[in-house]
Amino acid sequence: MTDYLSTGSLPEEYRQLALTVRDFAQQVVAPVSAKHDAEHSFPYEVVAGMAEMGLFGLPFPEEFGGMGGDYFALCLALEELGKIDQSVAITLEAGVSLGAMPIYRFGDDKQKNEWLPQLTSGRALAGFGLTEPDAGSDAGGTRTTAVEDGESWVINGAKQFITNSGTDITRLVTVTAVTGNNGGKKEISTILVPTSTPGFVAEPAYNKVGWNASDTHPLSFTDVRVPKENLLGERGRGYANFLRILDEGRIAIAALAVGAAQGCVDESVRYANERQAFGQAIGRNQAIAFKIARMEARAHVARTAYYDAAALMLAGKPFKKAASIAKMVASEAAMDNARDATQIFGGNGFMNEYPVSRHYRDSKILEIGEGTTEVQLMLIARELGL
Ligand SMILES: Cc1cc2nc3c(=O)[nH]c(=O)nc-3n(C[C@H](O)[C@H](O)[C@H](O)COP(=O)(O)OP(=O)(O)OC[C@H]3O[C@@H](n4cnc5c(N)ncnc54)[C@H](O)[C@@H]3O)c2cc1C
Repeated sequence: MTDYLSTGSLPEEYRQLALTVRDFAQQVVAPVSAKHDAEHSFPYEVVAGMAEMGLFGLPFPEEFGGMGGDYFALCLALEELGKIDQSVAITLEAGVSLGAMPIYRFGDDKQKNEWLPQLTSGRALAGFGLTEPDAGSDAGGTRTTAVEDGESWVINGAKQFITNSGTDITRLVTVTAVTGNNGGKKEISTILVPTSTPGFVAEPAYNKVGWNASDTHPLSFTDVRVPKENLLGERGRGYANFLRILDEGRIAIAALAVGAAQGCVDESVRYANERQAFGQAIGRNQAIAFKIARMEARAHVARTAYYDAAALMLAGKPFKKAASIAKMVASEAAMDNARDATQIFGGNGFMNEYPVSRHYRDSKILEIGEGTTEVQLMLIARELGL
């Protein structure tokens, strides 16, 4: 991994990975995307295919069943999947960067050996339970509690909007919970909760605007008892640790969003060359060609932003501001490109079977999840000393 990554000349191993995932996305994912979107069904066969390719293990060392790659490799895979199907891409993003990564970063040897091989192989999924009905952008508002009782934690509370939390292969949700009080300040810790634990319930899935094939549930915890050793990382560091995970996750979401933005460009170029109106292809009109040129520019700028953030992160340099910038510009590029692509497709753009209409519905959440645009602006301003 070089200190500087160019969008124009990727090192060969990254280029090969991107091409392999591109091929998978086109050959395996694209044919079933509209069906899973319409049926709101989780794409188990696609997830199995990604597992077989080792995508769930991309950034983890081989000793934990991983591929020995890095976070940038994950981002490249997400960009390729995001072009074709955001639900599939977010399933991988959440599985790796929110599900397995907290255990890899903060787990002890026993936790890593127990959970990582299952998660990196894609045989199992884990959820990341931070958001609550009264704790979203202000995640420190956590109300879920974990009380010590002998050798156990007893957890009570609720989480909402948790990705990958209710599939047939979900085995674990990592949750933040209030474990005490430090001079009037909540002590928030992170605890591993196997989904088979009595009192844990994944409520019925949400009926979402988009990401229909991604799995999202509210969760409830009633006297959920787990061993004390399920504490992940240091007691009282749960909130800080989750914020670190979110910093990284923003680069991954940015990559997914760049894929969506680029997917809209690719579809629009094809359609603008094919669709005839007033005796010529609609792309011959500058109004259309310039729109697509601007879409390409948005995708390119957003890509350089996530490459930069990933390069800083892998070089061990501060990357918080770069990650927030990448997440913000990439999610806006996806939303803007989806809107423009839908316009270029005319009436067809409003029909659910066209990929651009799916991007139109799917892209909005990119400006909300893993920190809203306003939260990114708060973080960037804070880094500037404001
Ligand atoms: C499909 C989906 C999947 C998700 N997956 C997960 C997951 O796996 N795990 C998880 O923990 N969470 C998950 N989330 C939750 C997501 O991260 C939150 O929805 C998001 O962080 C926003 O929180 P909120 O919905 O409570 O909005 P709020 O925090 O209530 O914000 C509402 C509005 O107010 C704005 N706002 C809030 N505070 C300020 C301020 N100080 N200044 C300016 N504007 C402000 C926000 O930007 C937003 O526009 C998911 C959400 C969705 C929809």
